[in-house]
Amino acid sequence: MRITKQREVILKILAERRDHPTAFEIYEHAKNLFPEISLSTVYRTLKEMVERGEVIEIRMDGETKARYDINTGNHAHFRCRNCGRIFDIEILFPLKLIGFKVEKVEIYIYGLCDECAKKEVMA
Ligand SMILES: [Zn+2]
Ligand SMILES: [Zn+2]
Repeated sequence: MRITKQREVILKILAERRDHPTAFEIYEHAKNLFPEISLSTVYRTLKEMVERGEVIEIRMDGETKARYDINTGNHAHFRCRNCGRIFDIEILFPLKLIGFKVEKVEIYIYGLCDECAKKEVMA
């Protein structure tokens, strides 16, 4: 029962915030909603969710801490080098690769978001 409650809390957080939080950020957020939750429970629950395909894990630019995303559809991630925000980018992937069965697509794109690109022009 308790595990179910913790899963619910984590799923709710991931559905609400789409900024690709790390396990620690999810834990900090979860504590407000469910004070008994522990960091190890958050890690364990996230690992299970990734295995079940409910959430995806992303590691951009050699980051040691994984980030989590409830958007499990094929999409690319764009990270702004100035503000550090990570955006979901919808892309139509060529999923029919002849001779290959695609199981997972990870595309990471780096640059400046629109807001930061405008600031850079002004500076
Ligand atoms: Zn930016
Ligand atoms: Zn995403």
